[in-house]
Parts: sequence; C-alpha cells; structure tokens
Amino acid sequence: MHSDFLLNSSLEIEEAVQKNAVVLLPIGQVEEHGPHLPVGTDTFIAEGIAKRVAAALEGEIPVLVMPAVWSTFSVDAVGKWPGLIKVRTRTVIDLVHDIVASLLRMGFRKVILMNGHGNNPELLQVALRELADEFEATPILANVWNFSAETFNQVRRSAPGGAVHACEYETSLMLAMGYPVDMSKAPSGESLRFESEFRAQDNFVGKNLVTWSTWKLQKSRTGVYGDPTVATAETGEKVIQGTVEKFVALVREYYAWEPPVD
Ligand SMILES: [Zn+2]
Repeated sequence: MHSDFLLNSSLEIEEAVQKNAVVLLPIGQVEEHGPHLPVGTDTFIAEGIAKRVAAALEGEIPVLVMPAVWSTFSVDAVGKWPGLIKVRTRTVIDLVHDIVASLLRMGFRKVILMNGHGNNPELLQVALRELADEFEATPILANVWNFSAETFNQVRRSAPGGAVHACEYETSLMLAMGYPVDMSKAPSGESLRFESEFRAQDNFVGKNLVTWSTWKLQKSRTGVYGDPTVATAETGEKVIQGTVEKFVALVREYYAWEPPVD
C-alpha cells in the first residue's frame, strides 16, 4: 500500500479498506497571497501537513493521502488581485460530499478533511453532517491552523493581528516547506481595519463570538493581513512539527475509535 492514494492499484485500495486505513483529504484554495507567496499557498500547506502526518505514522497506522481539493470558495475581496479560482459554495459542498461519499462506499470508515482555507469550514461542516446522515461513518473536519495554534503562539514574533492571511504563519510554513517565497516583496504588516471585541484578533488570538464577514470592508492594499516580514523558516519548522504531532494524536485516537454498539 502506498500512502499516496493515486499510486495504489484497486487491489491495494481493497487491502487498505480491509486494514481500516485512515484517509486524509487535504482541502486548499488558489487565490492571491500577497506579492510574496504562491497563489497555491493554502493547498500546499494542507497537502504538506497531510503528507508529513502519513510519513510520521508509517509502519504504525495505515494512512492514505488523497490529492488535494485545490479550488474552493473565496469571497470576492481577494479577487481584486489575479490568481483567484473561485468555486461556488454549493459546488464545494457537493464536491467534497461526493469525494468522501465515494470513499465511504468503497468501505473506508475513517476520513479526515484537512482544511487549509479560511472560507471553507462552514461549507465543509454541512458536507460532513449530510454524510453522517447518509452513512454509518463519521468523517472529521480539522482546520490545519487550529492544530498549529498552540505551537505558533509559542514562537510567533508578530503581535495579535499579525496572522490572518499571507501572514507570519503562512509565510513561515511556506519557507519551511521549501516553496518559492520572495521575502524581498513581503509587505510590512497590514493590520485589520475593522475590529470588534466580538471577533478574534487573528487566526490564533481571541475567539469569534460571531461570524462577521468583513473582508470587503478591510480594503487591504497589498492582499496581506498580518505581518509576513517577521516570518522565518525556523518558525515554520517548529510550527509544522507541532501541527504534525497534534494530527498524529488525532489519527491515533480516530483509528482506535469504534462506534458504540447498541
Ligand atoms: Zn491562505
């Protein structure tokens, strides 16, 4: 069995089903990430973490990594810069539903959606609830940044507000993963202009008591929210390590877990 789903023959896929393999489905997006990061950043981060999780569990738990869902939904505010490939909300729900439904029909029972894009969680939750209604299985949604939060907050150099989009977090991970990043073009911190005590200060500080779509009010000049200039590969390495460790713990628990019998 190959950890890359696409490399397996259908015979090997059947063996993976028999072994109750855990399937990881990275979900990203293609959109501008400032003048310094590739438009594929969200996809590369989700996929990169998924591959490292599979590698960390090799020989212990059978894990399959699907090719990433690379195009999903973004608000139009990021479409001001070239690079956005936007899929309608309902299509994202249906697409992810159908990919996971195919895996469940094959006989897989443990599927984890590893999402790297901030506009996706609500859509993916809908897909998961529909799947849980239709199948004797309960797939999991895990947003990658939540699994990074503990480590990132220990090592971050930016103040609260420094890590929203194309920020210290994403830039550090992309540097550590070896993707092309042009730090000479990284804009100095552009903070959120629209703040409220009911919204988190960034993806790692504070809590959202409300969902409040303010992207178009922010009027970013650079396509960045936060401070990419303080990003380093070293920060990225540490955060990747912490994120992978947390995902490994999740996969171990999920793999061992069995639904209660009546
Ligand atoms: Zn991103």
